[in-house]
Amino acid sequence: MEQTDDPNILRKQVDKIDKELGQLEKVKEEIQNECKHKGETFVQFDKSNSMKKYCSECKRELGYPTKAEQETFLGNKTKYGNS
Ligand SMILES: [Zn+2]
Repeated sequence: MEQTDDPNILRKQVDKIDKELGQLEKVKEEIQNECKHKGETFVQFDKSNSMKKYCSECKRELGYPTKAEQETFLGNKTKYGNS
């Protein structure tokens, strides 16, 4: 029998990835906390398909875009690399 028949092997791999993702999220937060979010911003759809505004420097979510920013985003998607 091969080791890959271990029913827990996938779970172990996924657990390891989840743990690493959690650690990386923390590192990302620390980096984003150092950013003042004073520079450029960009608009993008989030996971639930809502338009959100992000800091161009650190990609931190900064809330909802204004109506004008939404219209710019919808009218000029390629500017944001979503073509
Ligand atoms: Zn920032």
